[in-house]
Amino acid sequence: MKSPFDLSGKSAVVTGASTGIGRAVTLALASAGADILLVDHSKKEDTAKEVQALGRKAAVIAVDLDNMESVRKVADKAMVEFGKIDILVNNAGIIRRNPIVDFTEKDWDDVMAVNAKAVFFLAQAAARDMIKRKSGKIINIASLLSFQGGILVPSYAASKGAVAQVTKAMANELAQHGINVNAIAPGYIETNNTKSLREDPVRFKAILDRIPAARWGKPEDLQGAVVFLASSASDYVNGHVLAVDGGWLAR
Ligand code: NAP
Repeated sequence: MKSPFDLSGKSAVVTGASTGIGRAVTLALASAGADILLVDHSKKEDTAKEVQALGRKAAVIAVDLDNMESVRKVADKAMVEFGKIDILVNNAGIIRRNPIVDFTEKDWDDVMAVNAKAVFFLAQAAARDMIKRKSGKIINIASLLSFQGGILVPSYAASKGAVAQVTKAMANELAQHGINVNAIAPGYIETNNTKSLREDPVRFKAILDRIPAARWGKPEDLQGAVVFLASSASDYVNGHVLAVDGGWLAR
């Protein structure tokens, strides 16, 4: 019997694919059988080579996802390389830390552009292709700050709240077309995104003390959830925000 987690013959687009959570997700999808278009800020070949070493096809595109032209380029590149988008993982994201009273318009706009606007419009572009084939999986990377307000990161919290809501809004319209739209909310994961938190001993300990699993997460902790949501194992899962957080939200 074919495994419900098998992704052979599928093509996936992963944004922010070369580092952190994006790299782990890319390698998990490739291990399960998918070919990957890796989307990054600047051209990086290392993760693409790892995908090829797993026997899968890898294509790369370098774009800044802060504008609509880049979103169109990514969708076009996926069609040129693979002729279809079966799986989209909207992973690229940025964070700006500053007190509310000092927070700048730029720190608001930059974060919303990449974390919220590009997520929606890339999902829209993928959905237009998926609707034709009545099949597809869209996975948005949300955050604990889709549920909580966080500290010093108002635009990040707003953008991740938007990711959760857009996930549900898109799921409601697209489920009838055989498209599953879901999100993963990672807990505190050891990546570049959390470097400054991990370097602050007070914040590091405060966070660690609240995690029931008693450890920070690693990018690899997201691999099972993404393969599940990308595969037929999740065909009746729609509009869900799956926390992979060592129990943080349960506390
Ligand atoms: P990361 O190591 O900083 O990786 C972010 C990725 O996004 C990088 O590949 C980065 O490319 C890419 N990226 C950023 N801005 C971009 C842009 N304008 N255009 C194209 N690519 C861009 O962070 P991460 O922790 O793996 O984050 C991945 C996702 O998980 C993000 O959406 C983040 O918000 C979310 N998340 C992370 C955590 C955590 O604890 N780490 C928790 C919850 C949610 P460059 O490196 O070239 O800039």
